[in-house]
Amino acid sequence: MYEQENQPANFADIILPVPIPNMFTYEIPSDLMPSIGIGHRVIVQFGQKKVLTGIVGKVHQRPPQDYETKPILEILDDHPVVNPLQIKFWSWMAEYYCCHLGEVMNAALPSGLKLSSESNVQLNPEYDPSLKNYPMDDREIILLEKLKEKSELSYEDCNKLLGLKSAYTIIKSLVIKGAVLVYEQVKEKYSPKIENRIRLSSPYCEDKKELEALFTLLSKRPKQEDILLKYLQEVPIYKQPEANEKGLRKQVFLEAGLSGSSLKTLIGKGVFEEFEIIVSRFEQQPVTQTEIILSDGQQEAFDSIKSQFESKQTTLLHGITGSGKTEIYIKLIQEVMESGSQVLLLLPEIALTTQIVERLQKVFGSEMGVFHSRYSDNERVEVWQGILSGKYSLVVGVRSSIFLPFDSLGLIIVDEEHESSYKQFDPAPRFQARDAAIMLAWLHQAKTLLGSATPSFESYYNCRTDKYGYTSLFQRFGGAELPTYHIADLLADRKKNLLKLDFSRLLREKIQEALNRQEQVLIFQNRRGYSPFISCEECGWTPECEHCDVSLTYHQYSEEMRCHYCGFKDKVPKACPACGSNKLNTVGVGTERLEESLSLLFPEARIARMDLDTTKSKYAYQRIFEEFSGGNVDILVGTQMITKGLDFGNVTVVGIVDADRMLYFPDFRATERTYQQITQVAGRAGRRGKKGEVIIQTRKPDLPIFTQITGHLFHELYLQEMGERKRFFYPPFVKTIKVTVKHKDGRVSERAARHLSNLIKDISLKKIVLGPEKGLIAKLRNQYIYEIYIKVDRTGNIPAIFKSELQKIIFNLGTNKDFRSVRFVVDVDPY
Ligand code: ADP
Ligand code: ZN
Ligand code: ZN
Repeated sequence: MYEQENQPANFADIILPVPIPNMFTYEIPSDLMPSIGIGHRVIVQFGQKKVLTGIVGKVHQRPPQDYETKPILEILDDHPVVNPLQIKFWSWMAEYYCCHLGEVMNAALPSGLKLSSESNVQLNPEYDPSLKNYPMDDREIILLEKLKEKSELSYEDCNKLLGLKSAYTIIKSLVIKGAVLVYEQVKEKYSPKIENRIRLSSPYCEDKKELEALFTLLSKRPKQEDILLKYLQEVPIYKQPEANEKGLRKQVFLEAGLSGSSLKTLIGKGVFEEFEIIVSRFEQQPVTQTEIILSDGQQEAFDSIKSQFESKQTTLLHGITGSGKTEIYIKLIQEVMESGSQVLLLLPEIALTTQIVERLQKVFGSEMGVFHSRYSDNERVEVWQGILSGKYSLVVGVRSSIFLPFDSLGLIIVDEEHESSYKQFDPAPRFQARDAAIMLAWLHQAKTLLGSATPSFESYYNCRTDKYGYTSLFQRFGGAELPTYHIADLLADRKKNLLKLDFSRLLREKIQEALNRQEQVLIFQNRRGYSPFISCEECGWTPECEHCDVSLTYHQYSEEMRCHYCGFKDKVPKACPACGSNKLNTVGVGTERLEESLSLLFPEARIARMDLDTTKSKYAYQRIFEEFSGGNVDILVGTQMITKGLDFGNVTVVGIVDADRMLYFPDFRATERTYQQITQVAGRAGRRGKKGEVIIQTRKPDLPIFTQITGHLFHELYLQEMGERKRFFYPPFVKTIKVTVKHKDGRVSERAARHLSNLIKDISLKKIVLGPEKGLIAKLRNQYIYEIYIKVDRTGNIPAIFKSELQKIIFNLGTNKDFRSVRFVVDVDPY
């Protein structure tokens, strides 16, 4: 034993991008031993012919028990691309969220570092189709036929062939069945951005006399003279001789309308020299403010957070809308960065393009990296490299930024911690970034600050049970007041004929008053499109998606009906296909219809709309946002996009068109969500001294939740909800896991789900198994869906043991002939 410890490690466990539960062990050839370590990318052979890129997860001296090892073929990097803390984090995530380590790796690495875009698929020469061991579905057969014609297909070819966004699951299934092999061509993908520049060559850049002589020489060539003058204007080498070193973008001359050929001549003559530099894809922002002065209330909150951190790893800042949480974050971030540690600030998806980022950039300038989901892959790689090189010690980013290669985090802040967009639905890993961030911070021995005006009940529960620290800030910055709430009774208005185009009299009056005062209005409705669906007045027929069990949403602008789940589109029929009647009406209200109604009710107002449909392009969101904040829009209609983090000074009226729709969503968090959404959107009103008013339209004005919202009775609402959750076994009192079973044949799907459910019931741990039941949407993209919902006792390590049992069961089911082509999707802590 003693001797072994001194031996170099000769085996490495490799994380591979394949659907297998564990790492694979390979042998380290002796010539590679000195240069290999955790986090290096390596190339290995997998199966008979497949060559894959993987990452070294572990090095050791134990050969595997049950298979012969193959040697590692090559090491790709001099330095590891991921650090040991990341690998620990990945392993935790795979285990906690019941997925494969390779899936976590796929989510974690920007594809520029994955080297797998050029993956090719080929037939497995050892596959014998005559054995017909497994049933193949239609798309699998199409793919196999094509592979007989062409010896190989790229992933992209497969997607095109099958008309899919990603053929991954089909290829994966064929790999499992042994019918195809995946071959990866190794090719670096990251390409830095190169800029062409020019600068004065010597002697002109050093000797003023030479430069003057040059001017005399060029006086007869005005076009060339112009270029030289432009250069000296942009690069003041008389005052700052060193500025010549960095030169000037070549493009500047062309943009200024100067002659390209004259520039060429000057380069040819040796007046200028051309060179290339690698530039950042991000505009450098100058630092314009460093000193933050907190108000007394903010200072108290800041001190409280710091003292909580002495005994607690995680603290919640419960600060109402407009209390200035951002300023407190900035102060904390500054302290942590001064101590030499890194900081990660997580923001929900949409908040990123807006004010908070600009605000932080003013303070942190080029030390701050921004990680946005709409960035191109190259931009992501750049943030990744920026952290490795130490350029960025602060990153502001969306949920996937928890995967960046931090090595010394001191603080993670999760802003708007209650936001459901922190949860990743698809594909695996189906993680909750807030929860994962707390784990990540723990691995770094760092602190986590959760911030929200409307904390999630789960986080608040953790405060009440003393797991997290708690700090409240219940005053708005600068003495601004919270808005006043009004309830508008829709049914009463309807009876009295006061309801016009979905707007109650009260809401119409308030909007008109705001317009008269030249103030702005936000109208919130959590449903995009014109109206949810079209329905025949005679027979009740409604159009449905051909691939999913949902009705199609009517979009007036494009004159079509769309499936919001799979994107299927159809033309609006002229007459009812069921009875021939031409009385087809629209039912329900979407943002697009509200926009139209508003323009009829307030013809003089300038109206804009913000929802998924109007913000598809990269900068659309920014544009609408700027129009509104610039005062070019009076009324902004939108979905939950308008509820998040916006800080406008001139908004005084907020209308919530249909509060009931949120309440009756079939989900145990529906009440909590309604409270959060209404409070958040209400918080956009009256932020700078002007008093705000919020009008909530409902058919049930007597429900207690409305009194709780309007009276700011958060704690009362919380206690009431917790009572319910305890009684009916919902989080945080149990751990929930959802297993979704999918197959294109509804009977197979149901049979598999029943079988699985029985096996789960047999696990001898305390739990409740619900289902299988048809999914809320029973058919999606031609797959029939059954769901099993499990509530597991959360004492001790029962959830962990349960999950590992569950994974074994599902793995075994995958080898059962009847269920091979069935997909089982495990979602831990589902939303
Ligand atoms: P929250 O995120 O808590 O809703 P914000 O951070 O958006 O609140 O702050 C509300 C407004 O008050 C913003 O316009 C912000 O710039 C301003 N503000 C908050 N604190 C300060 C401060 N200490 N000094 C100057 N302005 C502040
Ligand atoms: Zn569909
Ligand atoms: Zn009809």
